[in-house]
Amino acid sequence: MGWLIPRLLAAVLAVVAGGLLGMGLGSLSDWPAVGAVLGSAGGALVHAFLEAVRAHRFMNWLRGQHEGPAPRDAGFWGELGYRVERSMRLLERRVDAEHARLDQFLSAIEASPNGVLLLDANDQIEWCNSVAADHFGLDPQRDRRQRVTNLVRAPAFVAYLQSGDFADGISFPAPGSRGTVAVLIRAYGDSMKLVLSQDITERERNDAMRRDFVANVSHEIRTPLTVLSGFIETMGNLPLTEVERRRVMELMGQQTLRMQTLVGDLLTLAQLEGSPRPAADRWVGVLRLFTQVRAAAEALSAGRHAFSFEGSGAAQIAGAETELISALANLVNNAVRYTPSGGKVDVSWSVQSDGTGELEVRDSGIGIAREHIPRLTERFYRVDGSRSRDTGGTGLGLSIVKHVAQRHGGELEVRSEPGKGSTFTLVFPAARVRAGDTQAEPPGRSPDRVDTA
Ligand code: ADP
Repeated sequence: MGWLIPRLLAAVLAVVAGGLLGMGLGSLSDWPAVGAVLGSAGGALVHAFLEAVRAHRFMNWLRGQHEGPAPRDAGFWGELGYRVERSMRLLERRVDAEHARLDQFLSAIEASPNGVLLLDANDQIEWCNSVAADHFGLDPQRDRRQRVTNLVRAPAFVAYLQSGDFADGISFPAPGSRGTVAVLIRAYGDSMKLVLSQDITERERNDAMRRDFVANVSHEIRTPLTVLSGFIETMGNLPLTEVERRRVMELMGQQTLRMQTLVGDLLTLAQLEGSPRPAADRWVGVLRLFTQVRAAAEALSAGRHAFSFEGSGAAQIAGAETELISALANLVNNAVRYTPSGGKVDVSWSVQSDGTGELEVRDSGIGIAREHIPRLTERFYRVDGSRSRDTGGTGLGLSIVKHVAQRHGGELEVRSEPGKGSTFTLVFPAARVRAGDTQAEPPGRSPDRVDTA
């Protein structure tokens, strides 16, 4: 009410001042009463006019963008402008703060590894993060306000959305068949829906691999077990001669060895997968690796192949000795098994100009067709299953080699041509290589003269 009295007083003052002025002027012509009435009316008009000008200025400011300050009039209009402007600025600041919070919230959802899609009561897209856009094949800007079922037509998704039963999630092939997406819907607010999505392609692939692995292991173990149980039955039911008995025992021994080798390789793989990376400061002499592997390879070959081990000198690799021996032994073992009699197996070590070290096993054997090469390191992958089994293979050798290479920060490279032989190269990063003296070893040097660095 503090503003009302001065305003009424001002109006009364204008009327009275006008009336007095009018009366003064009216008495000059003997019409003082008429002059007073006209003067009061004039005073009221002037007052109303001034009010109208201020109101007009204020209204213009209100209708505009309110960028400048409100008109700074004195009295009522000035105070009204000041107060309206202040509450507007306060509101603007609050809106800005809310915007900033919303932006922060949205960028947090945007950073989520999972897809988030918000649908309104009519299943129209309110908002989605880029992960959801990728999962559902949407454009976050263009597809806003579009009905989601017009854009995502996967029958499983449409049926799930329309069923209204969101207790469990579903999975369906991602649009564009880029994999599989798992989706979970949660209702919120006023019939709104929160759609959460996750790319489970990798998980499904791993599950399938695990299932295949268990099936493969079971199959690999069942075969020798069946043979063994057949022999046991035979020995129990039939009278065998000494020669037959020895033969049966020999075959049983082979099957047992096959299972032992398989279990040994499985344990090696499990250890490689479950243990921390080998230390980068334990140095293993390459010559020592050659020594460890050579005797077994020559025994396996039984004089059917020519071997050469070259280039080790005093070179060293940082890592786990048992793993490196296992990797090299697997490669040399394969070279012997897949190279016919009279063939060559060359093992060499070299350090490249960029400091990387290469452990190479080259054979003149049967070679491998190009299409098999990318799959060789898969568990139980064999180009020729019967040849692999007949020579005591488990189908796990190269996956062990690949694991060892990766654990040492390196990789396994394969070059091969059918009928012309194969070259398997273990490449080690410079940080794990000490070149040492890389003088070539004289061919055929006896392993017992090897320096065990
Ligand atoms: P396996 O125990 O069957 O030898 P690996 O994992 O060691 O299993 O090798 C996978 C497959 O790669 C083998 O079955 C074989 O077909 C092929 N392979 C590996 N090394 C050689 C090689 N040196 N020459 C020809 N084929 C090879």
